[in-house]
Amino acid sequence: MDKLECVLRAREMMENITPLKTDCGKCCGAACCQSDEDGQGGMVLFPGEEALYCQLPEGMQLTPYDDILPGLQLLTCDGACDRHLRPLSCMLFPLTPVVVEKDGKAGLKVMVDPRAYAVCPLCEGGVRGMDKAFVEAVRESGRILCQNTEIRAYLQALGVYFERLRNW
Ligand code: SF4
Ligand code: SF4
Repeated sequence: MDKLECVLRAREMMENITPLKTDCGKCCGAACCQSDEDGQGGMVLFPGEEALYCQLPEGMQLTPYDDILPGLQLLTCDGACDRHLRPLSCMLFPLTPVVVEKDGKAGLKVMVDPRAYAVCPLCEGGVRGMDKAFVEAVRESGRILCQNTEIRAYLQALGVYFERLRNW
């Protein structure tokens, strides 16, 4: 499947589902949308997703981001957005699908994004602490995304990147 088509289908899957049945933003003041010390917050776009931001909504910016794989884009925002325009990483947060090697085989896994621990109180409870429907939607999004080889390679690189973070 084409990478943009995969991203669109995953976004559709995640659009109306949240980590808890209640509004988790009430317990943290929507910490994941707050700006960092530079006055910006940011999410890495999935390969192909940048096509949806050719015309950037007000307050958003794109910058090249090569930490995980060359050619990625980081979308920064000013902490407010039209919910329908938020990137897929925001919809999946604080979880993420990754492709990891186990017993010599690469497979899909849903995990707490290690970068989320600094901001999101839900991370403490792990994947099991989140709404089952949300976890299953993240898993299904991962399955959809893996249908494109470029995105699957990104999810594999993400797993390697998280290993690197763990060993720092
Ligand atoms: S930081 Fe975590 S708990 Fe707070 S709004 Fe974001 S996902 Fe929900
Ligand atoms: S793009 Fe929207 S949902 Fe994502 S961090 Fe910014 S304000 Fe929050």
